[in-house]
Amino acid sequence: MKLYNTLTKQVEEFVPHEEGVVRMYTCGPTVYHFAHIGNLRTYIFEDILEKSLRYLGYDVKRVMNITDVGHLTSDGDTGEDKMEKGALREGKTVYEIAQFYTDAFFNDCEALNIKKPSIIEPASHHIDTYIKMITKMLEDGYAYISSGNVYFDVTKAKDYYQLSGRNKDDLMVGVRDTVEEDKAKKNPADFVLWFTDSKFKNQDMRWDSPWGIGYPGWHIECSGISGKYLGEYLDIHCGGVDNVFPHHTNEIAQSEAYFGHKWCNYWVHGEHLNDKTGKMSKSKGEFLTVSLLKEKGYDPLVYRYFCLGSHYRKVLTFSYEALDQVNQAYQKLRKKIQKLDRTPNLKEGKIDFYQNAFKEAISNDLNTSSMLTLVYDVLKDEELTDFTKLYLIEDFDKVLSLNLIIEEEEETNEELESYILKRIEDRKNAKQNKNFEEADSIRNELLEKGIRLIDSREGTTYEIL
Ligand code: AMP
Ligand code: ZN
Repeated sequence: MKLYNTLTKQVEEFVPHEEGVVRMYTCGPTVYHFAHIGNLRTYIFEDILEKSLRYLGYDVKRVMNITDVGHLTSDGDTGEDKMEKGALREGKTVYEIAQFYTDAFFNDCEALNIKKPSIIEPASHHIDTYIKMITKMLEDGYAYISSGNVYFDVTKAKDYYQLSGRNKDDLMVGVRDTVEEDKAKKNPADFVLWFTDSKFKNQDMRWDSPWGIGYPGWHIECSGISGKYLGEYLDIHCGGVDNVFPHHTNEIAQSEAYFGHKWCNYWVHGEHLNDKTGKMSKSKGEFLTVSLLKEKGYDPLVYRYFCLGSHYRKVLTFSYEALDQVNQAYQKLRKKIQKLDRTPNLKEGKIDFYQNAFKEAISNDLNTSSMLTLVYDVLKDEELTDFTKLYLIEDFDKVLSLNLIIEEEEETNEELESYILKRIEDRKNAKQNKNFEEADSIRNELLEKGIRLIDSREGTTYEIL
């Protein structure tokens, strides 16, 4: 398995600490709002990575946090608390906000066939772990107290700028530009481990600590949860590229200070999804979510297919035109697979050949578009029986997770779908003929069957209730 490692800036052979076992940590969502489909691109890439490692035979121990405290509107120590902001926006408590958006996140994951990591831990459940780590870092001289907060002193870290490839001077420029320079820091790059002298005196989530009542910084959460569940040697740490600095940089500094040795060997980052205007964000332009895609009539797996068509290290630009093209290709592919003859007739001759080719695509720094091409190659191969094709595609779909094999039951759903589409057409004709009574009666008839029609500028879609 070869992977691009942000730490060394090259594609490297992957060798875990323990043979056959991968300890993998992925930063979880900040649950103050719905995830946008950009965030979910990162979780799709991490899901593919985990499933690929399993396909190659590794036992993957994967942990993810839920960020429900400490993440400010900047990725550093400035700005408002994202969770408090969410609570204020919706007139709910921070705990209610966290629960609601955690559930929403996992619903989106389910719709995109993203498997849940085996261990998922909310950051607010592990305060004792962070306190233990911070206490040791203070004792060992890596951290200091200033104006009530506890800071990490980056000059004590071994190679603070290795992951990001930045240097001290880059940071000085950044700091000059920021409005809120923290005078309590010894060095501009120092970061908060524990806030007590908070701008947010009425913070809902706060705990007692040896340094006063307060709450943890964002970065310590991931070091704490990862160390607690995966031990002091981590194999792979993932996230989106925006996490390289400062979040992951700071995680390395803290974890290595605490453990006293190198912590994680492979740092794997997914590139961003952009919209036509640039980087996607929750406050700018149309807020693209899985629910919105569903409302517009797309199967969320079309978006998964869209992501897999491009390499995880390339910026991907979202547009509905591009999604429509992928939608057509995806529906055509599934239809083709559905037509294959299911009579058992397995011919083993070329199975190894294709499975090895699939492993090669995985091993080539997770080449998902080659993985998809192999599905088409299998379908085209005249030397394979239909049953063997189904066998191979089902096997590849353990990683791709695109529901490529349509179950018998779903075939009846296809009949239902063509019926609904026919009734939508009938209703459109009725409307055109100004027969609104007929149009309404079609809508009601479908509603009685548990099918709700959704009208939009693009046309009519439906939702099964
Ligand atoms: P957050 O919920 O803000 O903590 O982000 C969750 C994940 O989404 C992180 O791994 C980010 O790096 C990633 N992310 C944020 N924006 C994008 C984007 N536009 N495209 C892909 N991943 C993103
Ligand atoms: Zn993290």
